[in-house]
Amino acid sequence: MTVAFLDHLRSTLSQIEAAGLYKREREISGPQGGRIAVGDRTLINLCANNYLGLADHPEIIAAAETALHQYGFGMASVRFICGTQDLHRELERAVAAYLGKDDAILFAACFDANGGLFETLLGPEDSIISDALNHASIIDGVRLSKAKRYRYATSDMDELETQLKQADADGARFKLIVTDGVFSMDGYVAKLPEIRALADRYGAIIAVDDCHATGHLGPQGRGSGALTGAEPDIITGTFGKTLGGAMGGFITGPQPVIDLLRQRARPYLFSNALAPAVTAGSLKAIEIAKAADDRRDLLMRHTRRFRDGLSKAGFELLPGETPIIPVMLGEATRAQDLAKALDRRCVYVAGFFFPVVPQGKARIRTQMSAALDDTDIDFAIGAFEDAGRELGII
Ligand SMILES: *Cc1c(COP(=O)(O)O)cnc(C)c1O
Repeated sequence: MTVAFLDHLRSTLSQIEAAGLYKREREISGPQGGRIAVGDRTLINLCANNYLGLADHPEIIAAAETALHQYGFGMASVRFICGTQDLHRELERAVAAYLGKDDAILFAACFDANGGLFETLLGPEDSIISDALNHASIIDGVRLSKAKRYRYATSDMDELETQLKQADADGARFKLIVTDGVFSMDGYVAKLPEIRALADRYGAIIAVDDCHATGHLGPQGRGSGALTGAEPDIITGTFGKTLGGAMGGFITGPQPVIDLLRQRARPYLFSNALAPAVTAGSLKAIEIAKAADDRRDLLMRHTRRFRDGLSKAGFELLPGETPIIPVMLGEATRAQDLAKALDRRCVYVAGFFFPVVPQGKARIRTQMSAALDDTDIDFAIGAFEDAGRELGII
């Protein structure tokens, strides 16, 4: 490697640092939970995707441990060579049954699920119409396909209709609309009933990435489709958030969709099978999530309590009902300063700024969890008030 190349990288890193965009990772020394150990301190955690608090659930740990002994540590194979255990098919059937679809297919991550979906199903004769705020993995997955691409401003149904008409005018064979079920940076739920109506009128397919909904939103936690009463045709999701929080992704939908993905999706064909412990733990997580109305109720109670508290204190929040509560701060440095001030008060949050959100829209995205209790919520509101005053934000 040349000195010039390394100097070039160092200069890029300095620019990131100077712009206040450098991300530093803090090391947690115990399990993920409502309270976490960081060094010798215990912090209240408001930034995990651990919505139902299942990441350290004893029954999930026990299921994973049993599988570890019964099925071994790893598969050392892709699925189609010798990487499929009965556990993998059991998890696929459980996902499909939970979300009301024919079948499902597992991936190493939802990032990979989205990476394999579009290229496999659509060709250059087809079109993909994508919400402008979709997750990075959808954007990358769409880029990998040869279909024509159309974009609509987030949740703008007039523009979606315009793009559907444009795709027809351009001679599209098949049209697929793709959206996040819940937009992770804003916490907004996609307008699925309106999208369904437009899809039906123009003969389009709907794919929804429900990573921030599966397990905790809607009846039995069946996600944004169940919440809004408008079912998507294809759902992609993760085991890395509500459903135990380990790792792994899936696609669920009609049988021919899943069958073709198993033949052609490159992140499936050329990547290792899910580890047995993760597979068994995720299976247990679905079983627990399905019946966890108590945890879902608690999560929604915390959401209302925290929103009310921060609003009354004078913080600017994005409106909404999901457990994602973004506190809007403008410049990246403001978000970082508030995150540091909260850290000193034992509240763990993450500032989000460009390129994760647009320039000038930096925020602290707080997320509620059923692993928190009322005392934690009130403590966190107090810390926000105190830190917000210190920094002149409120
Ligand atoms: C988290 C997330 C992903 C990535 O999921 P992984 O399983 O962690 O790769 C994809 N899409 C959305 C909308 C997400 O929020």
